[in-house]
Amino acid sequence: MNKFSITIFAPVKLELNISPLENWIPGIKRPLICAGPCSAETERQVLDTAKAIANIPQVRIFRSGLWKPRTRPGDFEGIGEKGLPWLQQVRQDTGLLTCVEVASPWHVEACLKHDIDILWLGARTVVNPFSVKEISASLKEVDIPVMVKNPMNPDLNLWIGAVERLQHAGIHKIIAIHRGFSAYKVAPYRNIPLWEIPIELKRLAPQLPIIVDPSHIGGHRDLISQLSQIAMDLTFDGLMIETHINPGEAWSDKNQQITPEALRLLIERLSVPTQTLNGKTESALGLMREQIDGFDDLLIETLSQRMRVIKDIGKVKKEKNISAFQIERWNEILNKRLELSEKYGLNTGFIKKILELIHKEALRIQTEGGDQSDSVTGKE
Ligand code: PEP
Ligand code: MN
Repeated sequence: MNKFSITIFAPVKLELNISPLENWIPGIKRPLICAGPCSAETERQVLDTAKAIANIPQVRIFRSGLWKPRTRPGDFEGIGEKGLPWLQQVRQDTGLLTCVEVASPWHVEACLKHDIDILWLGARTVVNPFSVKEISASLKEVDIPVMVKNPMNPDLNLWIGAVERLQHAGIHKIIAIHRGFSAYKVAPYRNIPLWEIPIELKRLAPQLPIIVDPSHIGGHRDLISQLSQIAMDLTFDGLMIETHINPGEAWSDKNQQITPEALRLLIERLSVPTQTLNGKTESALGLMREQIDGFDDLLIETLSQRMRVIKDIGKVKKEKNISAFQIERWNEILNKRLELSEKYGLNTGFIKKILELIHKEALRIQTEGGDQSDSVTGKE
């Protein structure tokens, strides 16, 4: 174990075979919207919410929790299988696809018996490979789409592992859901987004659709619209938004649900940038991208020269038996560089983080003889 390495993500080898969304959601347009209450409460609440949501053209999937994973006992733990016929009714009345969270093979069986269109695995299930294995086994020979939330903790491999287990059971219609990560005191969020994790998933598995759940990331309805816009700017495929006919009276997650009308407005105001460019934009962007490439090359060259000098300094320090870490020098570097950054109008917090990373790596080189570690892939 190398104590100075910067492990961003563990290495993964990914071979996924994912069915494109257009193969199973006819006429799908980005963003795919999945909306509906956190929990089914009464038949009236489910049907009224669904009817109001069904008027919004982008919405294709109706979500509703029936078995609720609650942190503390005594909170509303879901209406259970009693809600399944209500969802069948939603499907019949509105044509929306229905989806339910499943946490056990028994939930799967109940949903299949009631023609639920899509299943989803919740964050608390995805953390547990035993549960994911059992659920996957119960899906062998069943052709049903499954949405997979990220696990509670920021572990990309655990998220990928759940997708792989479903794949091994023969499931190819899969959507990943980014719902943020549990952390202690991360205001203003309920679950910190750590966007770099779903972005890395997108890079590793470009064919896997990823939608974002701003309700569980934000934990408050005031944050949902800005988080949804970020999700679109980062080119994710859709949104799962908790929507309730009367959010203030919801039996679970009442702070983070919005009305169907608020959902309609949110979708209307969303700007949805695409990844494809027209000719003119492409050439203007192309020029600027060339500049960026040049700057990046320069950064890498400069870093490599800096690290070479660091190595030489390390040799001198060793010969003279001087410690690698020198607090006065470190303070001097920080102060001077931050002053310079301020002069150039750079965000000093950001520069400080970079300097700290460089310093950490310099110490690693000086104390461990300077071999390059493969820190991006996490190989140590
Ligand atoms: C939910 O979607 O209501 C839910 C319980 O979500 P999560 O698994 O993301 O906590
Ligand atoms: Mn919820």
